[in-house]
Amino acid sequence: MEFREAATAAPGFDHSYARLGERFSTPHSLDPVSEPRLIFWNQQLADYLGWPADPISDPVQLAALAGNERLTDSQPIATVYAGHQFGQFNPQLGDGRATLLGEWITPTGQRFDIQLKGAGPTPYSRGGDGRAPMGPVVREYVVSEAMAALGVPTSRALAAVATGERVFRNRAEPGAILTRVASSHLRVGTIQFFAMTRGGEGLKDLVDYVVARHFATSDGDADAKPAVRLLEGVCQHFARLVAHWQALGFVHGVLNTDNALLCGETIDFGPCAFMDHFDPQASFSSIDRQGRYAWHNQPGIMHWNLAVLAECLLPLIDDSAEAGQQIAQSIVDRYPLLFHSHHQNWLASKLGLDHIHDSDAALVQTFHDTLTTEKLDFTLAFRWLTEQANGNLEHSPLPELFTAPAPLQAWAAQWSDRRKHNTGDQKLVTANMYRVNPAIIPRNHLVQRAIDTVESGNLEWGQAWVDRLASPYEWRDGDEDWARPPHDEERVTQTFCGT
Ligand code: AMP
Ligand code: MG
Repeated sequence: MEFREAATAAPGFDHSYARLGERFSTPHSLDPVSEPRLIFWNQQLADYLGWPADPISDPVQLAALAGNERLTDSQPIATVYAGHQFGQFNPQLGDGRATLLGEWITPTGQRFDIQLKGAGPTPYSRGGDGRAPMGPVVREYVVSEAMAALGVPTSRALAAVATGERVFRNRAEPGAILTRVASSHLRVGTIQFFAMTRGGEGLKDLVDYVVARHFATSDGDADAKPAVRLLEGVCQHFARLVAHWQALGFVHGVLNTDNALLCGETIDFGPCAFMDHFDPQASFSSIDRQGRYAWHNQPGIMHWNLAVLAECLLPLIDDSAEAGQQIAQSIVDRYPLLFHSHHQNWLASKLGLDHIHDSDAALVQTFHDTLTTEKLDFTLAFRWLTEQANGNLEHSPLPELFTAPAPLQAWAAQWSDRRKHNTGDQKLVTANMYRVNPAIIPRNHLVQRAIDTVESGNLEWGQAWVDRLASPYEWRDGDEDWARPPHDEERVTQTFCGT
């Protein structure tokens, strides 16, 4: 199967994955809903995509984003995949509540999957209703767009539409559909389905396709086998992505192999959350009882997911099992160092250090320990350092939001001394702290408020917050409420994926 890039720059749908063959996906007709009503529309993303219409002025567009009309040239499919869920292999999952409308080619020739999530049952629903409750749809819209604004590789949200129908989970809840945009939805679990469930059938075609789509121009040896290029590319993506999550205090919540995209974007915002006070064991998902996917476990879990991918690719890496194993292992073994180097770079930037040297280990450790024992707000502690370093503390809203306790003050004195030894352009290093230490993150209690207000029919508050989240690194008038940590009674300790 040849992977075809769009020949023209006219935006529109293409269907290269469907062309790969019927082993990989099933054509699927959407299930209409009774009363579509717009919740959120992302005009900025629509502009970027060259999307030709909007659901505010065009009722046909609204109907299409609810699955009631088919968009021009869309050929909806559901794709098959497998996955390890909480360590257990499930040989067949698939798009149980997502429908791929097609691959949208932007005016500059970029290719994005456009999916409706929650648009009704598919051949892969396994008895589920194929629907999504409004709460998780609002969470995904808000948090994925916040992640994009924070600079993290992520799937995006083009629209959220209420269906006018109820879905039944523990209780009856209003239903909604998210229009999700990603570089692709191909997962470690997609590879697993063909390698493990199908015993290798179709695997080579799939790997060639993924490499052509995502790793055609990546660094590394262009003559290497596609399976090697894929594994190397994914290794780099995962290391970079998890380091970024760690640097922002983001807890994904359900890092199963079917939620790990090969293109390295964050996906599946079901039970995710940003931590407020620092806690390495932070874990919010109601279904993660052992804390398998807690913040401090994320780097190791993505290493594990990478090892699963490597195992799947072995037969395509070398004809000799032993040689294949060696090559794969050497790539998987690069991950810890790669992660560490990305993470150290983030830490250095966040702390306003030119570089983290071996001699800085104790300083960094003490900061970490102070955050932990004082239960300091992760985001505001770094922002406090930023305003301090830039001599801007009193001109920012921070004094109203954050009080540095004595141990942090004491640490900051040592930190200031260390910063005097920065080499390079000290002003640049200091100013750069503003670009890596956000003031505004999608705090859990505000996600909950967005869900509650949208469910009650008030769309304005949620929209105002989404707008504010688009500029996370700068202060705006009236920021106190967006930026402050939750009061005790507002604290959200559990999140639900709405499966
Ligand atoms: P998730 O936990 O969202 O990653 O979903 C895991 C698997 O369950 C995926 O194959 C989903 O498509 C499927 N799934 C989740 N919720 C539903 C639902 N309501 N109906 C059908 N399939 C679902
Ligand atoms: Mg998923």
